[in-house]
Amino acid sequence: MNQSIIDKDLDYIWHPCTQMKDHETLPLVPIKSGKGIYLYDFEGNKYIDAISSWWVNIFGHSNPKINDRVKEQLDTLEHVILAGFTHTPAVELAERLVNITPEGLNKVFFADNGSSAVEVSLKMSYHYHLNNGENRSLFLSLSNSYHGETLGALSVGDVKLYKETYKPLLISCIQTPVPKDKRIDSAKIALVELEEILEDRGSEISAFIVEPLIQGAGGMHMYHPYYLTGARELTKKYGIHLIADEIMTGFGRTGTMFGCEQADITPDMMCLSKGLTGGYLPLSVVMTTNNIYKAFYCDYNEHKAFLHSHSYTGNPLACSAGLATLDIFEQENILEDNKKKSDYILSKLDKFRELENVKEVRQTGMITAIELKGYKPEERIGLKIYTYSLSQGVLLRPLGSVIYFMPPYIITYEEIDKMMKVAYNGIKRV
Ligand SMILES: *Cc1c(COP(=O)(O)O)cnc(C)c1O
Repeated sequence: MNQSIIDKDLDYIWHPCTQMKDHETLPLVPIKSGKGIYLYDFEGNKYIDAISSWWVNIFGHSNPKINDRVKEQLDTLEHVILAGFTHTPAVELAERLVNITPEGLNKVFFADNGSSAVEVSLKMSYHYHLNNGENRSLFLSLSNSYHGETLGALSVGDVKLYKETYKPLLISCIQTPVPKDKRIDSAKIALVELEEILEDRGSEISAFIVEPLIQGAGGMHMYHPYYLTGARELTKKYGIHLIADEIMTGFGRTGTMFGCEQADITPDMMCLSKGLTGGYLPLSVVMTTNNIYKAFYCDYNEHKAFLHSHSYTGNPLACSAGLATLDIFEQENILEDNKKKSDYILSKLDKFRELENVKEVRQTGMITAIELKGYKPEERIGLKIYTYSLSQGVLLRPLGSVIYFMPPYIITYEEIDKMMKVAYNGIKRV
């Protein structure tokens, strides 16, 4: 069974983020089913999904509450156009998102994946200024940032591996240095650098887009909330939008429901996706303020409307998965439980720090990263750790030489032990 799926797959599928030639030696892993934090293959093996399948399955696989809600919705309304029409799951989800996100984010614009939410936020920001008589075609982002891989999102990102090739195709964006570590002093230094850029080019810039607290694809780089608080003040001062890309950090990952809460700020726009549907279905939203909404609100012939759309915008099945996800947050003590679990993980990290190939160990909420040192990119150390841990029943997918845990919140303490033991042995072996 396994081999025939693999052969057929390689005949037909071009996989994401993959050099397909790798699969001449690296076997694909066909998955038959998922339950809780486990993925099951066709040969009776199970794997702990320690990365929540690319950071989305926050409550694991085949969650009974989400399953039920989506099944019920399936027999009611699977899809309807969201222009001119509406439906209960979208309305209810929008209302609940407004209630749980920072004060002042009152309008919800639906899209269908993270990158498209970022595209929406960039276009919305540019268009807002245009509607107010200003042409601001430059964007600002943090060094080492990641915001997705469509052209606009790639333009505001700064991970060379993904961006370099497409440079001639991109829109204008400049970077300001991300705080170099989690210390408050590093945040203060980076804020001085931010202000210098804003003083210099502030009037050209439409928006400053940031990943709050943690830069995910940039190697789980973490910084102090103070930076966000300062960035909010500065962007206000210079009339620039602050876009919080909480696609990865949203829904409890950082220890609070949203990363922005730790800095006590309301951005002008907040992009959400990934955990939004519990990892079930593609969906994203851009939350924004009444002020921005109003800049587009006028008679049709004034031509100020935001004419952006995607076919699957606000899909009812995806919205119902989102509602079930919010139900779980409301009904169970997820954030408190996560706090205990991340403290537990923290208490077991000293052992890693003692390894001579470990450069740094860092943690924010339910993300723990172990950065290795002394390896050249050609050694593909991450791949070695991936292969080893898979053979031990744990799915880890290091970012270069950064190994990280981003498990579903339902992981138990014993399962944390197993996940960490496998990672430890993997790091020790290489
Ligand atoms: C994953 C991610 C995106 C892109 O989302 P996709 O759904 O993969 O397009 C954007 N920003 C951040 C911070 C992400 O982690």
